[in-house]
Amino acid sequence: MNGYHRRVTALKDAAAEARKIPRADRLLAAADRAGWTARLGHAPIMEAVRATLEELRSAVLAGSPCPPAEEVEARLLGRLAAGARGTLRPVVNATGVVIHTNLGRAPLSRGTVVAMQEASGYLNLEFDLASGERSDRYGHATAALCRLTGAEAAVVVNNCAAAVLLALSALSERLPARRAGAPLPVADEGAAGRPQVLVSRGQLVEIGGGFRVPDVLRRSGADLVEVGTTNRTYLADFEEALSPRSRILLSVHRSNFRIEGFVHDATLPELADLGRRAGVWVVDDLGSGTLFQTGPFGLGDEPTVGERVAAGPDVVCFSGDKLLGGPQCGVLVGRREAVEACRRHPLLRALRVDKVTLAGLAATLSHYERGEALREIPVWRAIAWTQEELLARASSWRDALGLPGAEVVEARSAVGGGTLPGVTLPTFALALPPGDPDGTAARLRASDPPVVARIEGGRVLLDPRTVLPGEDEAVLAAVRAATR
Ligand SMILES: *Cc1c(COP(=O)(O)O)cnc(C)c1O
Repeated sequence: MNGYHRRVTALKDAAAEARKIPRADRLLAAADRAGWTARLGHAPIMEAVRATLEELRSAVLAGSPCPPAEEVEARLLGRLAAGARGTLRPVVNATGVVIHTNLGRAPLSRGTVVAMQEASGYLNLEFDLASGERSDRYGHATAALCRLTGAEAAVVVNNCAAAVLLALSALSERLPARRAGAPLPVADEGAAGRPQVLVSRGQLVEIGGGFRVPDVLRRSGADLVEVGTTNRTYLADFEEALSPRSRILLSVHRSNFRIEGFVHDATLPELADLGRRAGVWVVDDLGSGTLFQTGPFGLGDEPTVGERVAAGPDVVCFSGDKLLGGPQCGVLVGRREAVEACRRHPLLRALRVDKVTLAGLAATLSHYERGEALREIPVWRAIAWTQEELLARASSWRDALGLPGAEVVEARSAVGGGTLPGVTLPTFALALPPGDPDGTAARLRASDPPVVARIEGGRVLLDPRTVLPGEDEAVLAAVRAATR
């Protein structure tokens, strides 16, 4: 047979196979019998039938034999089952990265989840039950925020980026009341040009996810004035840069990087003092916002929100879902005058949080107020595990698996989420047997629920620090399936 005849024969075979492809009606009926039409509706079923048939047709035209109709029906049902799970799925975080941005940052406490569920119906969000009149939605979290941080006032928005944008927008449009009588040669309401925000060159940072301080600043309608140098900025640099257009001294926490060596920063108390003397606002973008001292947990000295508030700026902005360990939101706390200006700004309406988030934040805060945060808030529970507990858990996995070559090793966990750069916590991880770590990690991710691990030194490591209580069995089942 020459090449031409071989091609003709192949085409005839493919055509014969193509005639065996089941009809759409048959597949629809199979989906119907399995209850999928009732569960998902007609349109998603049609889409899945079409996709299944198209895949099959391409395979057959490429020379594969057509499987029996029952097998094609099974493929369709498999596709429907996978689709019905949705794209957003719970995963087991065995990476040891506590605040893992790709895995949804802070896992929520049980109390927080319950509060969010209870808030999902009607509730007195903006309704005073005693008087029957309208009330303030932010009031549900502000009292606790003030008690926990020592601030006079607070407001909550969608994330810390929104809090910074709101603070810069609202405060660059006005002057603080103390401006009257300020002795330094500064802002004059009649001065031409856009308002100015002064920032140290060492703090013009990108936080991640496209949040760049200079860009946010521009969006707020203010001009950026860079002060000092990358490694050294003194209070005198700020003083010299003050002009009649100055409105805000901005301090940005270096959340995700460190500069070391020949460095100097103007401190927040210094800036707060200058802001008072010069009659300009002082805004602190703190980022992760811990309420606990981090030192005792081996995390270095991350400033607490309370310490930053006590340093005297007008506003401190921080995240709800980093070290606070609550739902995604951004908190703005500080002096009443400044917070009030933010609350009255029209941008607040576009950045405001919903009832479910507010309820979750209030519940997370109440863990701190009741003194049970270390036990109840998953982020802090993960940070506070003792070495003995981690060793015992990793060892129990090893023993339950009985997998030759798997061993407990010393490793390091990270806090993550753009917080505490370079800080790691000692941990004990289960190292799976070497050999094809990428394949093993992929099979772990393909299990149900998916288990996300990390690869180090050519081995898959499972870090118990971030595996939530009750997820041990899921880890073991996934490892068994992935290493069979
Ligand atoms: C993380 C971070 C932000 C952004 O916080 P989101 O809550 O993610 O918007 C802003 N500033 C600093 C200093 C940060 O660390």
